Amino acid sequence: MKYYILFGPPGAGKGTQAKQIVEKYHYLHLSTGDLLRQEMAAGTELGKKAAELINRGDLVPDEVVEGMIRNKIASNRDVAGFLFDGFPRTIAQAEALDAMLTEFGGKVDAVLSLTLPDELVYERILHRAQIEGRKDDTDRSIIENRIATYHDKTEPLITYYKGHGNYREIEGNDTIENVFAALCGILDE
Ligand code: ADP
Repeated sequence: MKYYILFGPPGAGKGTQAKQIVEKYHYLHLSTGDLLRQEMAAGTELGKKAAELINRGDLVPDEVVEGMIRNKIASNRDVAGFLFDGFPRTIAQAEALDAMLTEFGGKVDAVLSLTLPDELVYERILHRAQIEGRKDDTDRSIIENRIATYHDKTEPLITYYKGHGNYREIEGNDTIENVFAALCGILDE
């Protein structure tokens, strides 16, 4: 069982690439953002609490996303692997994931990190707002908060995974096809 993390700032193209990767490699795509939006759409208690935080551009509590991920791993033992997208987003989540995978007899096989400068993060998110209509994509100050949160809470994971020796960087400012080819190159090694 393979466990891959698709990493990068908001708007780096994680969702787009994840769709293509799981189609080709038959991994299960686990996007905490998608799972949270499903809860929001279904109007669950969890979804209501998450909506407040997400629509401000803040993170939801670690325990919430860790629980969601654990359930999905535990209930899908017959897949070729997992592709995590938008998770982990904090050092605490990364540590929780390592502990979980040890329990399930696995490890993070590689962190596929898409890079993108902040100016392009803005551009891409504002463009996506017109297509997908996500509330957290529409307001400049919310996007600014998400970028600040990324630098503050999520970027430290780069050092964390570099220390584990399984961190790989891919230039995100390229065509969808070129980024996909670079990712496949790593996954095929
Ligand atoms: P993007 O990559 O554009 O930021 P996501 O769909 O990954 O979008 O996430 C949307 C929002 O959902 C985040 O801004 C955050 O509020 C919440 N979220 C998603 N994943 C996590 C996570 N692992 N930990 C905490 N909050 C999360």
